[in-house]
Amino acid sequence: ELKTPLTSFSGYLQILSNTVTDEKSQLFLKKTRQQVKKLSSLVSDLLDVSKIEAGKLQLSNESFDIRQVLDNVVELLSHGNHHFHISLETDIDELLITGDPDRIEQVIINLLTNAIRYSPGTNRIIVYLTRDAAEVKVGVRDFGVGIAPEKLKHIFARFYRVDDANPTISGLGIGLYLSHEIIVRHKGRIWVESEPGIGSTLWFTLPSDQ
Ligand code: ADP
Repeated sequence: ELKTPLTSFSGYLQILSNTVTDEKSQLFLKKTRQQVKKLSSLVSDLLDVSKIEAGKLQLSNESFDIRQVLDNVVELLSHGNHHFHISLETDIDELLITGDPDRIEQVIINLLTNAIRYSPGTNRIIVYLTRDAAEVKVGVRDFGVGIAPEKLKHIFARFYRVDDANPTISGLGIGLYLSHEIIVRHKGRIWVESEPGIGSTLWFTLPSDQ
């Protein structure tokens, strides 16, 4: 019910931008499309929260290459944020694990988007991928605002935001709650290391395929 009107909204905006020719209208349409995209993503996140609460968040269970997922997300976000240099540091070429690739991609997008949003005035992000016999470990490191030690234990809570520290960065405080739920449902762990003014690294693990 929430998504159907947004989908038709996007469709009609697309038709309009194919027909409108003057520059100013094109610009307004572009801005409108960006806002609809943002609203769609907020609605999806809120629907995911409802699904978790109803015990209805379904996860698929398939074999996929986590290195490939990381490459895709790094490429996607580098494309939309030219100013940032996002590098993937790993000596792993291919790493098959079992789980829900779309949901794991959602977690990585969340962590990287946060790394970008909470790092004004910086331009470097490093993504790590390592493994041992038991687990695969992914890290997203930024050099941004960081998080005060007393706030660290709250950041995975639903609707929690460190808003006093970042009054100009908007958000709902559910990205990390969803990421936590997805990782725990995969039998993994997620945690943060951070220092105010220095930056943050968000880590998660997933079980290795045996
Ligand atoms: P949102 O970013 O929409 O507020 P999240 O659940 O993604 O919600 O994050 C919760 C809070 O954790 C954020 O409001 C922010 O204060 C803090 N946070 C998350 N990631 C970072 C980061 N990379 N650097 C600094 N603070 C962060």
